[in-house]
Amino acid sequence: MHTAAAVARSRELFDSGVTRPLAWRLEQLGNLRRMLTERREDFIAALSSDLGKHRTESVMTEIAFVTAEAAHLERHLAAWIRPRPVAVPVVLQPARAWTELTPLGVVLVIGTWNYPVQLTLAPLAGALAAGNTVVVKPSEHAPATSAALARWVPEYLDGAAEVVTGGIPETTALLAERFDHIFFTGGQAAARVVMRAAAEHLTPVTLELGGRCPAFVDETADLATTARRIAWGRFVNAGQTCVAPDYVLAAPEILDALQPLIVDAITSMFGEDPAGSASYGRIVDDRHFERLAELADSSTVVHGGQRDPGSRYFAPTLLRPAPGDAILGEEIFGPLLPLVAVSGQDEAIRMINADPKPLAVYVFSADDRVRSSFAAETSSGALAYGAPAAHVSVPGLPFGGVGGSGMGAYHGEHSVRTFSHERASLDKPLWPDTFGLAYPPYGKAKDKLVTTLMSFAGRAPGLPKILRSKARRFRARES
Ligand code: NAD
Repeated sequence: MHTAAAVARSRELFDSGVTRPLAWRLEQLGNLRRMLTERREDFIAALSSDLGKHRTESVMTEIAFVTAEAAHLERHLAAWIRPRPVAVPVVLQPARAWTELTPLGVVLVIGTWNYPVQLTLAPLAGALAAGNTVVVKPSEHAPATSAALARWVPEYLDGAAEVVTGGIPETTALLAERFDHIFFTGGQAAARVVMRAAAEHLTPVTLELGGRCPAFVDETADLATTARRIAWGRFVNAGQTCVAPDYVLAAPEILDALQPLIVDAITSMFGEDPAGSASYGRIVDDRHFERLAELADSSTVVHGGQRDPGSRYFAPTLLRPAPGDAILGEEIFGPLLPLVAVSGQDEAIRMINADPKPLAVYVFSADDRVRSSFAAETSSGALAYGAPAAHVSVPGLPFGGVGGSGMGAYHGEHSVRTFSHERASLDKPLWPDTFGLAYPPYGKAKDKLVTTLMSFAGRAPGLPKILRSKARRFRARES
């Protein structure tokens, strides 16, 4: 079967050992960047076909994003994978200890459809940087991008990455194979299937899931800028963004002031009729379109709400839900933004903590006490002040969830660590044989000596110079 053959080829390449040297890894990252430069128009066309993305949005959130991630990995990889020395306790000296990041083997990357280039190729870049081979399963719900990835990735990455296209049957077949790591982006239902399958082979997983990301706004924030940023975060990619602000929490008078400002922001970004704007995307498929229509119809729409099933256009929509409305109970993943009244930050924090832990919490406040209470009293994959979604573009920050929003993280050095095993290494010369202390027979004198020496654990003062050089000479003779 195609899936088994792809995994077997990947394993054979990994087992050959060619993927381990730094040079091979840098070459693959360079190939990935070259693919995104030379085939840029193909990917832009595919993203437009799948999601109606404007080319600027495709470049900003997908193509240039992955190019920057690969370049960042290339720039720092040598330093990140260098062995790191670790102090050795007195009782074990003379000895050297260090850790080293070693490749895991064959990695499976299961992508999703909302950022179908970024969410398959950014993990791919990290897995290659760590010296693995990769099998990529793009989402069937972004078929044009999936076809572009299947066409170009094997050509540019020449065996380092295999692409298996298809839906649930193909993913199920892949999950029956043994991988050394599975990296999954998607919803919680499929994540459970992935984790169960991984358990069979004791394969570690990274799960990049969703959830409801809240945005809290108070009177100390500049409301016009806040409105623009929230509108951008919510309505980019027609709301189909895992780190989009899912709902706004604010005092009633703040909501009253914010609502017309968000409407102004929508108009300035997408015009009076966003249906005619090339900058505004489309809903990925009929199933999601109908789900969003039901959510909107079961609550109170105060702006937008227009839609066209034929083109899967769904207008940027603001709602004022009543307690218990379905829209307050699930991840929206579309261009609907509920404005929810709370008495203040304490009630907002209580509401956030009543939900599964979100991928991100956004706070728009200049008040340090408010900012610190969100830091201290909530838990989420990320916490950002003043800007939704932008943390994802900071290459030094880990990107990942916690609790219901996922486990594990990636981007930059975090990717290299996610896709590596940190191997503990110790080199203890056979002379002098200080192990003598550990050998029986035991007695009072040894007891005293061991207790004294072990009390130095962690402090690890160096050996006297003469012993160090003697140990070095002995090691040289041994090897
Ligand atoms: P999904 O979970 O249905 O699909 C994701 C992948 O899983 C696809 O490749 C699909 O083929 C596969 N899959 C689906 N069902 C499967 C099954 N039963 N067995 C095996 N494989 C299966 O994707 P979705 O729910 O449409 O995606 C949206 C979700 O993804 C949202 O919750 C969103 O928040 C989340 N998301 C998270 C991130 C992140 O980085 N944390 C990014 C984007 C989307």
